[in-house]
Amino acid sequence: MSNKPAYKRILLKISGEALMGDLEFGISPKVMSFVAEELKQVVAAGVQVALVVGGGNIFRGEGLARAGMDRVTGDQMGMLATVINALAIQDAIERVGLQARVQSAIRINEVCEDFIRRRAVRHLEKGRVLVFGAGTGNPFFTTDSAAALRAVEIGADLMLKATKVDGIYTADPKKDKTATKYDELTYDNALDQRLAVMDQTAMVLCRDHKMKLRVYDMDRPGALISIVMGDQTIGTRVH
Ligand code: UDP
Repeated sequence: MSNKPAYKRILLKISGEALMGDLEFGISPKVMSFVAEELKQVVAAGVQVALVVGGGNIFRGEGLARAGMDRVTGDQMGMLATVINALAIQDAIERVGLQARVQSAIRINEVCEDFIRRRAVRHLEKGRVLVFGAGTGNPFFTTDSAAALRAVEIGADLMLKATKVDGIYTADPKKDKTATKYDELTYDNALDQRLAVMDQTAMVLCRDHKMKLRVYDMDRPGALISIVMGDQTIGTRVH
């Protein structure tokens, strides 16, 4: 590994569930400050950082629809939930001394900026951490798809998916003791085998635009900076 980062611009997807930490609902302050400190190292290395946050810790449209709610309304609630998470992350990032901006795919101007690609890129160039909220702005999509879309749009060199396990496994390692981890995988393999990497829309978009993905364990201190500095051994590489 050299002293120079291996990537110039990254997009990190953090699920809403990951933000809950040990809590049953909501946002864990402990997780927030941990994430902010991890990001600080990456920004200090000169890497431009964009985030896409999920909303599953608050609302998911699918779950609300199962309970009888109109699906589009449920998805709108889910998208607004991601904006709440984005504001929380923005605050945590600023508290460690970095600059951050939230851009939302749904107009909500009193609390954050709209998503405007050129402005987004400008923030990144100025070293601000950019937090994308409200997913794609459309119902029936997920924040994984939003992450893939934004990664391609802003020309990220690498997309990362922070999870609670250290990569992609042949089966759920929590349920199946014989499950083994993939070090490397193609999108076609993942799609064929229906591996739970991301939803299919997100994977197809990444595949078609040659977006590299790394799935890694968010809870491991220093993992993010090591990946960014070129460590190929952490998590699973998908291409
Ligand atoms: N959502 C949506 N369109 C998008 C992104 C998200 O409608 O482009 C809604 C959807 O209802 C989803 C919820 O927002 O369930 C929260 O996002 P997601 O489930 O992807 O969050 P995560 O699982 O990453 O916490």
